[in-house]
Amino acid sequence: MKIFCIGRNYAAHAEELNNAVPGKPLVFMKPPTAVLKHDRDFYIPDFSKDIHYEGELVLRIGKNGKSISPKFALRYISHITVGLDFTARDLQDELKSNGHPWEIAKGFDNSAVLGEWLDFEPFKDAPITYELKKNSVTVQNGDTSLLLFPFEQIIAHLSIYFTLQQGDIIFTGTPKGVGSIAPGDLYQGILGDQVVMTCQVR
Ligand code: ZN
Repeated sequence: MKIFCIGRNYAAHAEELNNAVPGKPLVFMKPPTAVLKHDRDFYIPDFSKDIHYEGELVLRIGKNGKSISPKFALRYISHITVGLDFTARDLQDELKSNGHPWEIAKGFDNSAVLGEWLDFEPFKDAPITYELKKNSVTVQNGDTSLLLFPFEQIIAHLSIYFTLQQGDIIFTGTPKGVGSIAPGDLYQGILGDQVVMTCQVR
């Protein structure tokens, strides 16, 4: 199982971190050991003083494909949920400033929180909105109509380079409103009117 992530897919988020808006999808990956099921607590690791939450729509691939045309790309999505792309921002900033790969800042254990999977079919036609709440206060609002690269383009782009396989996962990018986590925080991801993800930080 592969975990793909798309960076800077909302213009307003790229701006809040002073990053340029990319001309094509910015891709990075996390290893399978990064997955944390949403009913498990997240323990802040010792190696970072500044872990950020990034609330994102996450897609699950339902069938294998390579060089997928955007026209057919949505057929490859079986499920959707809200997840957290935990990021060691202090490590990432240092790596970025040196032009180095940022795997350790993004792919560490438990950095990919996954909510409950919902069937994608009912979501495929309309723009999808979701929310991330931190301690019951909304901190991020996502709307797929604001994505720089919509799902079709993400899948088409990834499948140029990587064979997509059933069970692969795609974090589709975070809207503005990212911030630091602290012990005691409770995060909830809301898709439609349903809480699909909860994560307690310790
Ligand atoms: Zn992210």
